[in-house]
Amino acid sequence: MTATTPLKVIIIGGGPIGLTLAQILTSAGVDFTILERRSTVTPEEGAGIAIGPTSFRLYDQLGLLPQMEAISTPIPHKHVLQRDGKVYNSYEFHLRACHGRAMAFLHRLDLVTTLFSTLPDSAKAKIHVNKSLSDITLTPEGVTVTCADGTSYNGTLVIGADGVHSKTRKIMNSLSNAPESETLPFETTFQGLFGNFPRLSLPGSEIEPGHDWECHSGGVSSQFFVGRDRGWFIIYRPLPGGPTRERIDYTDEDIKQFAEDVKDMHVTNKLTFGDVFKNVNKAGLTQLQEGAVKNRSWKRIGLVGDACDKITPNVGLGYNNGVLDVIVLGNLLKKLNESGEEITEEKVGKLFKEYQAERKEFSEKVDDAARGVIRTVTHTGFMKYLLDRWINPVLGLDKLYGSKVMGPLMAKQQVLEWLEEKNGIDGSIPWAHKGLVVTKA
Ligand SMILES: Cc1cc2nc3c(=O)[nH]c(=O)nc-3n(C[C@H](O)[C@H](O)[C@H](O)COP(=O)(O)OP(=O)(O)OC[C@H]3O[C@@H](n4cnc5c(N)ncnc54)[C@H](O)[C@@H]3O)c2cc1C
Repeated sequence: MTATTPLKVIIIGGGPIGLTLAQILTSAGVDFTILERRSTVTPEEGAGIAIGPTSFRLYDQLGLLPQMEAISTPIPHKHVLQRDGKVYNSYEFHLRACHGRAMAFLHRLDLVTTLFSTLPDSAKAKIHVNKSLSDITLTPEGVTVTCADGTSYNGTLVIGADGVHSKTRKIMNSLSNAPESETLPFETTFQGLFGNFPRLSLPGSEIEPGHDWECHSGGVSSQFFVGRDRGWFIIYRPLPGGPTRERIDYTDEDIKQFAEDVKDMHVTNKLTFGDVFKNVNKAGLTQLQEGAVKNRSWKRIGLVGDACDKITPNVGLGYNNGVLDVIVLGNLLKKLNESGEEITEEKVGKLFKEYQAERKEFSEKVDDAARGVIRTVTHTGFMKYLLDRWINPVLGLDKLYGSKVMGPLMAKQQVLEWLEEKNGIDGSIPWAHKGLVVTKA
């Protein structure tokens, strides 16, 4: 491989962000290889994911809108309750009014299955499973990536989409002699019990699709999203042992104990968590890391998604923020690929720096918002309790923050420059970028 051969991107990790990048690079005509550690890119993990307006714009551009709409349920309504089920705040999320589209919820498995199955066969053939990254070597022309099974792959650059425990990040930090703080950049203060259940298995006429029920209380809080066919929950509480930077692996016994601890807590005005847990399809317990790396890249190695920026799920933006990472990179990589220029280490380094600069403002705001929200909904301190229980319901600060702070920032986020948005919807805040604009005769 010489420096003038076409760009080839090696993506580590075929999770939601790696697969979204695969869709983008396929459309951009940029060659890639995905190396995924697991035996499949479509594992069942039990979790749901909220999809926001910016991700729907991408799906529209990629021609995936009908598929994504078919597997998701818009959730425009939110209700906040006490532990005993008393509702003290009900409102409509700001997203539809501001950006034309409500947040929609889908099953993570349906998301990755759709992202994978809609790739052309030629792109599917570029995804290799049972390939666990073990090393990256920089060469004068590019990179050589080695997997635990001894196989190796050459490319122009590497993108680590390998999640919160990113091996790409570890290798990058070791090669660049990064400070110790960058090796374990995330701290965990909260844990989350999550899972899904068949919607019709639940008693209670209030369980109609389209609602997010949230219990906010001292030391524990829940989110309960009701879709057409199934519902998803996540229960948040502080780590029993206090904050840590270490990895925690949970057992089935831990899951049972957590569920037992919160079984009397209401997750809707009529249902307790105990009612829901009896009907659960699959549940998991995870630590909820928070934090962001200082440097998202070094030379020919870059990071996207949870590998570089990790938030708790309260604001439903982990995946959506990662999608914005790969949109920005997609725009830059397409230009580089088509430039016909020699792809030097310096050029790749500059591209990654441009990517980091573009993503800085919104990612930092998202991190701050998620950090504030989880502490508010678990009433961490009297002021947070006061804000959540008494001030917010009267003044509507949630909606105000959404529409006046996050909304204008969200509207500034990029779309793919080379594709038309066929079903673009505007809300009260106009989008700054429109993608390819086709003028109709
Ligand atoms: C309970 C829960 C609920 C959530 N809800 C939402 C939500 O509503 N909205 C939202 O936007 N986000 C949500 N998130 C966050 C969202 O799931 C993540 O932000 C998103 O999955 C990150 O995708 P990723 O591809 O970066 O990382 P991951 O999903 O972690 O995928 C990483 C991939 O890399 C692979 N990999 C790891 N190491 C290696 C290696 N050494 N070699 C090769 N491959 C490797 C892994 O097997 C995996 O397939 C939620 C998260 C949780 C836990």
